[in-house]
Amino acid sequence: MRSEPEPMLSLEEAQGRLLAAAGEPLTGEDVPLAEALGRVLAEPVRSAVDLPPWDNSSMDGFAVHAADTTDATPASPVRLRVVGEVRAGGSPGVEVPPGCAVRVATGAPIPPSADAVVPVEATSVYEAGGASAPGFPARLGSPRPLGFGIAEPLPEACLVIAAVEPGAFIRRRGEDVRAGMSVLEPNRRLGPAQIAMGAAVGLGSLCVHRRPVAGVLSTGDELRHAGEPLRGWGIPDANRPGLLAMCGETGVRALDLGIAGDSVESILGALRPAIERSDVLIVSGGVSVGPYDVVRAAFEALGRVELWRVAIQPGKPFAFGRSNPRASDGRNVLLFGLPGNPVSAIVTFHLFVRPALDRLSGLPSPVVDADRAVTEDRLEKAAGRRGFLRVTVARDERGSPIRDGLGRLRVHLAGRQGSHVLSAMAAADALAIVPEALDGIDPGAEVEIRWLRT
Ligand code: AMP
Ligand code: MG
Repeated sequence: MRSEPEPMLSLEEAQGRLLAAAGEPLTGEDVPLAEALGRVLAEPVRSAVDLPPWDNSSMDGFAVHAADTTDATPASPVRLRVVGEVRAGGSPGVEVPPGCAVRVATGAPIPPSADAVVPVEATSVYEAGGASAPGFPARLGSPRPLGFGIAEPLPEACLVIAAVEPGAFIRRRGEDVRAGMSVLEPNRRLGPAQIAMGAAVGLGSLCVHRRPVAGVLSTGDELRHAGEPLRGWGIPDANRPGLLAMCGETGVRALDLGIAGDSVESILGALRPAIERSDVLIVSGGVSVGPYDVVRAAFEALGRVELWRVAIQPGKPFAFGRSNPRASDGRNVLLFGLPGNPVSAIVTFHLFVRPALDRLSGLPSPVVDADRAVTEDRLEKAAGRRGFLRVTVARDERGSPIRDGLGRLRVHLAGRQGSHVLSAMAAADALAIVPEALDGIDPGAEVEIRWLRT
């Protein structure tokens, strides 16, 4: 084995230094709700209003005085005269005298003189001549009587067949949210429910962290654009589409910087114009110890390399640096040099790039989806480095991961473990983590895994 040029950093040391260098989350900006999905909230949201804003009906039915319904049963219904109607969005300024009812729709404000709602399922329509149509429903919750729809003319009276308590089927003002209450916490991604919450408290926009912009460059004279003919001894550039997709998955805006050749000038030619447009530059290939591995030299020309070589497998040659403060705003652009082997590029993105992007995005701490498993295969790697092996999780016939009595998953190797074996990476559900001190983990033993799904 070749002697190592300098000691390797532990994973934690490298991650710690990198996150410290990444700095503060990007500043906040207001975005309309339609653009807020997946963005990270920058400030807490407090409601200025009560929700619901007024007492309203939770059912289609009749607003009544509860006391009028005390004796109502299916065998002996109580007849209430219908004196008006309130629709959702309509004014509740209708008087409800004792012995009377006002037809209400779900969401309609409750007339102040009523104190309960009888759901339509607990009523039947009284028709002139004394008949009821078309018959009493047997109990609350049975289907609506035929021929009674809210679009129909107001009935003269209704027959109540079940008693209601005061307050029944009324949603009280402020029972969901009280004015002044915090409804959304910062530093988490906004999903549909959080966006709906913002809208419900009357906001048209939300203050979110600016989304990091990540430029992605592949390096290597052998690389050809994916889908194009392989001239000479070329190979398709697999990393750039993969890394652009990982940026997308991480919620950042990705800039495709194309392919550079194996020279400092070519790499700088692609990176220099991107400095002002990016928060992060991600370069794959050319970061190892070969004669054409010139990415570190390119980083030194832009700023400096702050760490190189981490005790992990795959991904050892990973490099990280920062540009000099840029002209426009003095920011240091983060520079990531990922190994060219596609599995190494993906694994080092997971371990280093994503935590930094999460930090810039405003997420609190690196989100790691860890789990415990028992391995069915022997998991082997070099001693002295932490191994991240590509594994598949056993599932039942419905596709759910199988767990044993201790809650542990079952994993097997997703394929061969070379850092060029993209097929195993593509088949994997998770990375199995083998500690530095070991050279492997035997079948049947427990192993920590990290899910790859996001
Ligand atoms: P390097 O890190 O440049 O020494 O590359 C290591 C290995 O990864 C070589 O076999 C390269 O051909 C391969 N490689 C580098 N970049 C890419 C890429 N973008 N897509 C696919 N393979 C690559
Ligand atoms: Mg190369």
